[in-house]
Amino acid sequence: MSPDRLFRAPIDLHTHSRVSDGTESPGILVRAAADAGLGTVALTDHDSTAGWSEASGAAVEFGVTLIPGMELSTRVDWSSVHMLAYLFDPNNAKLVAETARIREARLHRAEEMVARIGRDYDVGWDDVLAQTTPGATVGRPHIADALVARGLAATRSEAFAGILHWRAGYYQPHYAPDPLLAVELVVAAGGVPVIAHPATVSRADVALDERMGDLVDAGLFGLEIDHRENTAEGRERLLRLADRYGLALTGSSDYHGEGKPNRLGENTTRAEVLDRLIARATGWSPVYA
Ligand code: AMP
Ligand code: FE
Ligand code: FE
Ligand code: ZN
Repeated sequence: MSPDRLFRAPIDLHTHSRVSDGTESPGILVRAAADAGLGTVALTDHDSTAGWSEASGAAVEFGVTLIPGMELSTRVDWSSVHMLAYLFDPNNAKLVAETARIREARLHRAEEMVARIGRDYDVGWDDVLAQTTPGATVGRPHIADALVARGLAATRSEAFAGILHWRAGYYQPHYAPDPLLAVELVVAAGGVPVIAHPATVSRADVALDERMGDLVDAGLFGLEIDHRENTAEGRERLLRLADRYGLALTGSSDYHGEGKPNRLGENTTRAEVLDRLIARATGWSPVYA
């Protein structure tokens, strides 16, 4: 490892706390990262930076470098595309306004979904609130937890495969910006954008690939290739895209605490890639352990 490097490996650049749909507080998550042997962890809650402050304190306390980040909800046609963003200014007015708009849309969408589900099952909005930290970015995982608490599903995954699946008829989309707008907002806030899990089975591959040139021109930094939900063929496609557009390749766990089977450090990012990511950022600094 380079002697002037201020962070240590292993490096995991994608995790969620209770600020969105993870099950641990940001501080406990950072402690779990230290316990798992990580040298560096990014906190990337959905559409929120509310966990940065607590996670930053915990990073110093537990000796893990923190890369503050976020996973922005975006949409191409009817497919959801997640945009990881790192080291941007969390007070940038346009980005703050856009994330507030997304969180608001998610809240109304969740209320509508629960109202629909409540016509057929014994579950209501109070059940969802009971599973949600005040101010958290609300998503289907919180509805899943309410269904589990009501005995209507055994686990989050069972709820996703059943009542929360779009085929069940209760699914609702919510407002989310185009990925190009997300990249532009993140770059304007001094941050570094990386497309999250761009090769899962349900992604808008063709539409996304057609947009790749524009996304790169706008400042897209990389693609999250090592993620458990990317398919083998999809990873080949990402290698070709990275080669063609000079994009960096990252790897991460997408840890959600007990909310998903994903374990901290199950996929990691090379230190050279994080060097370049940090060098590109102008909005915020890592919290070095
Ligand atoms: P939403 O954005 O509200 O539609 O919900 C999608 C979120 O649910 C994603 O960010 C995932 O973290 C989570 N999720 C998706 N599938 C599952 C699953 N099978 N088990 C647990 N969480 C899931
Ligand atoms: Fe999630
Ligand atoms: Fe995601
Ligand atoms: Zn995620």
